Amino acid sequence: MDIFTEILPLRAAVQNLKKQSLSLALVPTMGNLHAGHLSLVKKARQSADRVVVSIFVNPLQFGVNEDFATYPRSLETDIEKLSSLNVDFIFSPPASLMYPEANQYNTRVSVQGLSAELCGATRPHFFDGVTTVLTKLFNLVQPNIAIFGEKDYQQLVIVRRMVKNLNFPIEILGMPIVREKDGLAMSSRNQYLTPSERTIANQLHITLCFLKEKILADLQNFPNLIDSSIQSLNQIGFKTDYLSLRDAENLTSVSAADITMPDREFILLAAAYLGKTRLLDNIKFFIQCKGKS
Ligand code: AMP
Repeated sequence: MDIFTEILPLRAAVQNLKKQSLSLALVPTMGNLHAGHLSLVKKARQSADRVVVSIFVNPLQFGVNEDFATYPRSLETDIEKLSSLNVDFIFSPPASLMYPEANQYNTRVSVQGLSAELCGATRPHFFDGVTTVLTKLFNLVQPNIAIFGEKDYQQLVIVRRMVKNLNFPIEILGMPIVREKDGLAMSSRNQYLTPSERTIANQLHITLCFLKEKILADLQNFPNLIDSSIQSLNQIGFKTDYLSLRDAENLTSVSAADITMPDREFILLAAAYLGKTRLLDNIKFFIQCKGKS
C-alpha cells in the first residue's frame, strides 16, 4: 500500500494505472475510520482493479464555530485498517497542499439550491466545502468510480448532481448505512456522546422507523405525524434541527398530494443535536400503487 501526501507521486501512480487500462475506485473520507467507512472500501475493492482511499479533514467544510480543530484524527490506526483490506493507495494530504496560499484560495464549486436546504440551512458553507474538495480529489485521482455512504444522504444526492452537471466521467455508488447493534448510525462524531447521551442516541433511528410505519398507515396525515415525532425527540433530550419527508431521488419537498402518487420512493431525513453532538439519520421507503409499502 502506497501512502501519498503529495500531488506529484499520486499523479504518477494514477498515470501508471491509466497506461495499463486499470480501473480505479475512490473512497473519500475524513479518517477515524469505522465499519461504515470500511463497507465503502470493501465495495470499492469489488468494483475496480485498484482502490484509493483519501483521508483529509477538509477545513473548507467546517464553520468557524464547528469542530475542525477537535475532529478525531487517527491516521496510524486508519492505515492499519486499510492495509488489512488490501487498499492500494492512501492519499492523505496536509491542508497546505490542498489549499496553498489560503488567502488566495477563492474558487468554490457549488450545487445551488439543494446545498442551502436541510443540513445546508444550519451549515451554510458545508456543501460548498464538500463539492469543492471533491472536485479537487476527482481531478487528482481521476477515479472511474467514487463510493459514498447513504448516511450522508443529502451529500450523496448533491455529489450525483455535481458529477452530472459538470460531466465528470465518474460513476457514483451509494452504500447503505452501517449501524451499531442498537440502531445508531455509525459516525466518527459518535465518540463525542457522553455515556448518558449514548443510551438514548439510538432513539433517532427508532423514531424514524416508527414514523415511517405511521405515515404508511395514514399517508395524508404525514405533516402532523412528523411534528409529533419532533416533539417526542425533543422531549427525550434531542434538539431536532430538521425532520423532513422528501423525494428520495432528488430531495424535493413532498406535499399531501405527492404522497399518494404511485410508485415513488420517499425518504425521511433527520438531523438532531444531542448535547453538542449533531446526529444524522434517514430511512427510505417505497409507496406502491395502492398506498402500501
Ligand atoms: P466522513 O469521514 O464522515 O466524511 O465519511 C466518509 C464517507 O463514509 C461518506 O461517504 C459517508 O457517508 C460514509 N459513511 C460515514 N458513516 C457511515 C455509515 N455509518 N454507514 C455508511 N457509510 C458511512
